[in-house]
Amino acid sequence: MCNGTIFDIKEFAIQDGPGIRTTVFLKGCPLRCPWCHNPEGLNPEPETLRSPAGERTVGERISAERLAERLNRQIPILNRAEGGITFSGGEPLLQADFILAVRARLAPVHVLLDTSGYGGTEDFARLLAAVDQVYFDLKLMDGDAHRRVTGVDNGPILANLATLAAAGVAWTVRVPLVPGVTDTADNLERIAALLATLPHPPPVHLLPYNRAAGGKYAACGREFRPAWDEALPGNPRLELFHSRHLEAILV
Ligand code: SF4
Repeated sequence: MCNGTIFDIKEFAIQDGPGIRTTVFLKGCPLRCPWCHNPEGLNPEPETLRSPAGERTVGERISAERLAERLNRQIPILNRAEGGITFSGGEPLLQADFILAVRARLAPVHVLLDTSGYGGTEDFARLLAAVDQVYFDLKLMDGDAHRRVTGVDNGPILANLATLAAAGVAWTVRVPLVPGVTDTADNLERIAALLATLPHPPPVHLLPYNRAAGGKYAACGREFRPAWDEALPGNPRLELFHSRHLEAILV
């Protein structure tokens, strides 16, 4: 039996891929983006959140069979709404075997993987063979900056991006706009330049900075310390993408 750990299942999601979707949030992420708005998804284990409203446990160990059974009940509705299932996180690549075991038990449905791209190349390739679409995040192109800000090297992310670009799976690059961190002209220029070298560049979604990001940190026993001006909206610099004939929108 294959078990995994999830921290939420969101039904009727409309921003996690085409149509109306059910999004499964897998618990655990090796990155530590200081703007992360799901801090309860970082720790791979179930944990207790404490707030003035009381305590609650976040995280559920669940078998692939049970999760697939839950999702299969929704699939007829999702298919009618031209939607599907999205695996997000946390970082779903950490639980590749579990996702594959769930996927193998699902009725026919569109499946989207929403990933930071950080994980093993073999796991990534196996997941690519089992999904219909990928949302792939790009944060910082400079290796030192990526390590300093997120705590991990961006080498594995760029290697997985190259694999994805050659795989023929529908994909979208998503860039979180963090003021003065990821939205700089240099960083967005480097992202645009990389994508423009691909034979079939993906669409690019620039994601406005989420001002609610810090809301759940205290309950998780973590500190939210933004080193940027939260009042700024994040600059999409769409011209850097459009001048290279890339399809880019602010979502
Ligand atoms: S990759 Fe996503 S889930 Fe992980 S820390 Fe960054 S924003 Fe949070």
